[in-house]
Amino acid sequence: MSKYLIVGQGLAGTLLAFSLLEKGEEVLIADDYKHASASQVAAGMWNPVTFKRLAASWLAKEMLEEMNLTFRKLEDQLQTKFFHVLPVARIFNSIQDANFWDEKSDHPEVGRYLSARSNKSVQENFNSPFGNSEVNECGWLNVPLFREAARNYFIQHGNFIEDTVNEKEVEFIESSVVWKASTFDKLILCNGIGVNQWKGLEHLDLIPNHGQVLDLKIENLELDAIVNFGQFLLPYGNNKFRLGATYNWNEVPDEPTDEAKEFLLAELKQRIDKYIVVESQKTGFRPTTRDRRPIIGFAKENEMLAVFGGLGSKGVLLAPYFSKLFATGLTEGTSIPKEVSAARF
Ligand SMILES: Cc1cc2nc3c(=O)[nH]c(=O)nc-3n(C[C@H](O)[C@H](O)[C@H](O)COP(=O)(O)OP(=O)(O)OC[C@H]3O[C@@H](n4cnc5c(N)ncnc54)[C@H](O)[C@@H]3O)c2cc1C
Repeated sequence: MSKYLIVGQGLAGTLLAFSLLEKGEEVLIADDYKHASASQVAAGMWNPVTFKRLAASWLAKEMLEEMNLTFRKLEDQLQTKFFHVLPVARIFNSIQDANFWDEKSDHPEVGRYLSARSNKSVQENFNSPFGNSEVNECGWLNVPLFREAARNYFIQHGNFIEDTVNEKEVEFIESSVVWKASTFDKLILCNGIGVNQWKGLEHLDLIPNHGQVLDLKIENLELDAIVNFGQFLLPYGNNKFRLGATYNWNEVPDEPTDEAKEFLLAELKQRIDKYIVVESQKTGFRPTTRDRRPIIGFAKENEMLAVFGGLGSKGVLLAPYFSKLFATGLTEGTSIPKEVSAARF
């Protein structure tokens, strides 16, 4: 049995902790909830289709399988409902868009996700002269609720401490990690956009991408699908919705901007004619990589320091599969595939 110190209780840290605990390992997770957290603002949607090319997303079938298994099992274990299956209705912008969809529905890979069904609630409420079609096997995870339920579980089982892990307070002594008088075998960074700020990890190609979302109340709008019209509108129930999201690659402070708010509202107002109340605006940084693959593995010259991150804009879909893969690598010594390995940088 090894002792792991995991830094960060976002999607990455939470799922890796569960995967290690399932293997009977000893785990302590530290989070101070003061650093930026993408998981706290994520809409939590998953969708196996990339709309730009109308193609299945990378390893869609494998990711969906593991994601469904993991979150359903965790719902039972944590006695909380946070995993919601819901189709995405894609609004077409032209007749060509609709024809392309029909063409692709016979494709051996992406075809299984492209339904011929049109969503009635979207057709009735949205300006959509070219119609819409549903994507199968989509939905959303209530990420803040999942994190909270997991944190309570970790606290009950002695696996959690609310604290900051400061690099200056960590020592690597022979084959041990020492932090605040406790000793561990490995330190695993799941600290989102902070992973390449540690010594020995600066070379990792992790780029923060700033995103903003709006929480809305819209009376007289009932939807039984997530709507995608270039932006997304996610129905939470009780006339509450999340609208998003912006993508900004420039170095910006983590603050809500009027520009993003106006942009998102203007996009939505082109599609619906309803009275919209903005209840809040949220911001966060997606931990992205240029090759759009996660980062998993050890620091170059330190076998006691590891990373699990770079989940980009698909944390919900990727984290269950890759946390399991990494936990197996850590406990059984299986190798990490090159395309996601930290060693590729
Ligand atoms: C606006 C927006 C919308 C998004 N929508 C979706 C979506 O619909 N679907 C989807 O799958 N993904 C979405 N994402 C992406 C998703 O949020 C990320 O992929 C995922 O949350 C990353 O998880 P993480 O655990 O790696 O990082 P984070 O969630 O950022 O977690 C890092 C954690 O580490 C902690 N921490 C950092 N440093 C320290 C330290 N020194 N000591 C202690 N604790 C520390 C932080 O407090 C934080 O809790 C969205 C992201 C944004 C910004």
